[in-house]
Amino acid sequence: MKLIADLHVHTIASGHAYSTIEEYAEYAKKIGLKIFAITDHGPAMPGAPHYYYFANMRMLPKQINGVRVLRGIEANIINENGDIDIAAQDMKWGELDIVLATFHPRVGYDSQGEEKNTEVLIKAMKNPWINAIAHPGNPKYPVNIKAIVEAAKENKVLIEINNSSDFSRPGSYERCVEIAKEVKRAGWKVMLGTDSHFSRMLGEFSSALKIVKEAGLAKEDIVNTSEKLISQYILEKPR
Ligand SMILES: [Zn+2]
Ligand SMILES: [Zn+2]
Repeated sequence: MKLIADLHVHTIASGHAYSTIEEYAEYAKKIGLKIFAITDHGPAMPGAPHYYYFANMRMLPKQINGVRVLRGIEANIINENGDIDIAAQDMKWGELDIVLATFHPRVGYDSQGEEKNTEVLIKAMKNPWINAIAHPGNPKYPVNIKAIVEAAKENKVLIEINNSSDFSRPGSYERCVEIAKEVKRAGWKVMLGTDSHFSRMLGEFSSALKIVKEAGLAKEDIVNTSEKLISQYILEKPR
């Protein structure tokens, strides 16, 4: 399956990643990737950039070396209300194209069991800025898969299948297959992200592709397969 975009990428700005935007753009061109999204961690994570970093993203060119660069963030869910660590005003100023949101440890909301996590994640999905839930298969933050996928479809929030989960969040694989199957059953879409923390991880989707194949997802179920789907399901989402 041909993927034209990587929608989850960290630069040195995240504080624990090791490549620059230029390095990613250069590597994207080399491997024939048309689009990548800069999704550095939100301000609540130690070492992550200040909110000015995101509010200033409109300074970035939309294309580098013919590669489309999407401005984004991987925001942290910081409390039981499902709030994220960036204000709508900052995302607006920064002209952000893509907003991922998820749970990370020690940034304000720590796992409180499946029922509570599910409730909080569904509250977060009502924020119209959020385009996708990153790595929902993380076993450290168990959620009710059926309820999450249903709410995702209702709120037009994509479900991410994360290529790095297999090694950075052990035990994710089986849950990710289950999530992908539920997305198929519900007639909704996934987005794939490598969650690259170094330029050469860009576009390397072997684990995510194995998951979507096992779950029976087709090309049209995965937004990374065309610019049209990315526009329709991410860029044109009303905010
Ligand atoms: Zn993450
Ligand atoms: Zn990430």
